[in-house]
Amino acid sequence: MTTDSIKIYKFGGASVKNAAAFRNLANIVKSHGGERQLLLVVSAMGKSTNALELVMDQAYKQEDFEAAFQQSKAYHFEVVQELFPEPESLVYHRLEELFLHLHSDLQRLLPTDNYDKAYDQMVGYGELLSSTILHHYLQEQQLANTWVDSRKYIQTDDTWREAKIDWPSTERLIKRDLLPLLEQQLVVTQGFLGGTKAGLTTTLGREGSDFSAAIFAYSLDAGEMCIWKDVEGLLNADPKHFRDTVCYTEISYQETVEMAYYGASVIHPKTIKPLANKQIPLYVKSFLNPTGKGTKICDCRFDKPAPAYIIKENQCLISFGVKDFTFISEKNLEAIFNALSELRIKINMMQNSAISFSVCSDFHEERLHCLIQILKDQFIIHYNTALSLFTVKNYDSESVNRLTENKEILLEQRTRTTYQFVSR
Ligand code: ASP
Ligand code: MG
Repeated sequence: MTTDSIKIYKFGGASVKNAAAFRNLANIVKSHGGERQLLLVVSAMGKSTNALELVMDQAYKQEDFEAAFQQSKAYHFEVVQELFPEPESLVYHRLEELFLHLHSDLQRLLPTDNYDKAYDQMVGYGELLSSTILHHYLQEQQLANTWVDSRKYIQTDDTWREAKIDWPSTERLIKRDLLPLLEQQLVVTQGFLGGTKAGLTTTLGREGSDFSAAIFAYSLDAGEMCIWKDVEGLLNADPKHFRDTVCYTEISYQETVEMAYYGASVIHPKTIKPLANKQIPLYVKSFLNPTGKGTKICDCRFDKPAPAYIIKENQCLISFGVKDFTFISEKNLEAIFNALSELRIKINMMQNSAISFSVCSDFHEERLHCLIQILKDQFIIHYNTALSLFTVKNYDSESVNRLTENKEILLEQRTRTTYQFVSR
């Protein structure tokens, strides 16, 4: 079923963080992309999404956002100046234009009472900027390519900041236009972005560019997809927190999806399903060592991979106690779940006892306060913040000991394959 000759490369923020990174990227495309039809999905440069979030935040609060705006602009222009010594290069005009539009959007769309909608219109500029630079740079490197606006292809609803994909239209549009295009040349497009029927920009959730790449891979029936990262491949733990990490050479879709679900930051959790549905192998490779083996994620079966250690930070633990010494009932749970679902608070772990029910979730201050407002008449509510959720997948006693050593455990759970606890 797959159009085997099509390959999708996803380059994250770190692979376009400065001029040297752009040069390295172009070399990877030259030496590894060659024989295939190639579509490149790129994230915003370095940490520029965070920077744009800050600009957006200040504008939203009616504060002076000019300094932060200029800083982000300067960052992009510095990189461009290094890559394009020719001052007449078209890329300068394109970038000026994009920053001009962003600036006018910041004034035009704010103030608003719909923060999330405004967020999508503004924060998405990061990818428009990086993909524009990449398009021009590859062009200059004799890598003929077309810049494609992913908002015209990845069709979504208007769940701002976490848009849901309209798969049938997305697949149809991508097939219709990009299949013929890829036969002629490289395609460069943005991660993270989608578009509504009304022509507004949506975003697919932070770190969503992996998912974007998988949407293109699925829609094109690609032969493979590759995520280029600053680590060797898919590791069993984050090297920032653990020594002696192991890189999996081959691992199943299932294992990977579970690791992403528990909070491993390697791959966006929504990436795997579209690939698994069409059996498209996913490679994770290092852009610092492009000839390295990396990891292949596919439909393989292995007995027991090395234990994976995952830490999800910024968690809060909320417990709901009944007020009248009756037991926690299904009616109570229904009220709690309804409120959580309405406020889009995702449960990462939960547990009930006779008279209370506890939930560990990502901490969102406003949502937590709304939750308390809704449920405070029915329950006694306690919560702790600044916690971490630790998970060991495929645990054994040694890995559990290694992780729990010297930690105060607030909530704990164990299945046959997975051990989890919440701690400070
Ligand atoms: N630039 C977006 C972010 O930083 C999307 C991505 O990098 O995947 O969240
Ligand atoms: Mg990023």
